[in-house]
Amino acid sequence: MSRPDSVIVNTIVRQALVSVEEVMGANGLHAVLRASKLDRFIGALPPNDLNPAIKTSEYAALLQAIENFYGRASKGMLRRIGKASFQYGVREQAALLGIAGVALKLLPEKQRIKFILNGLVNALKKSNPEVNAWVDETGENIAYVEKTCAMCWGRQSEQPICHLYVGSVGEAVLWATGVEHEIIETHCLAKGDEYCRFEVGAAKA
Ligand SMILES: [Zn+2]
Repeated sequence: MSRPDSVIVNTIVRQALVSVEEVMGANGLHAVLRASKLDRFIGALPPNDLNPAIKTSEYAALLQAIENFYGRASKGMLRRIGKASFQYGVREQAALLGIAGVALKLLPEKQRIKFILNGLVNALKKSNPEVNAWVDETGENIAYVEKTCAMCWGRQSEQPICHLYVGSVGEAVLWATGVEHEIIETHCLAKGDEYCRFEVGAAKA
């Protein structure tokens, strides 16, 4: 069942830490960095490049530390961090996401959703060629799928746990359509599924 450990590059870790600080404040960020033995990033964010920063197992430990920090409130907080993380991507990584200068207004909603989910897939693959992710259009609803999800690396749970991803996918769909949609994690590696899958559900009223 165990997956090989891999690496997360600087720009992705930078994005994560900026977003964690936005939601948890500096003290919160420092607390979870200490708890996950990533103290070396306190006051020293990784640079904005594609060199390896940390191991996937360390990234998963950081998310686990956030979960422990908030307890029952952690699901909502992780979603907020995920939203902040996509917003960071729009601000700082437009080229990586492939959204620089793109206008989606004339496209139907489904095409817009497909465009931004493919943008997420491509950005992740550019950051690490070992990433195995794709957009699933076989079902009634479009979905984002990743077989190499870093968030739940080495974790086991009866429920899906990649709430940060749910937040990011939701914010991406909001960016592309202007409408908040329900995002459901239908599969999670931590549950023993083959991949983590995030389905774009109905628009929220
Ligand atoms: Zn996952």
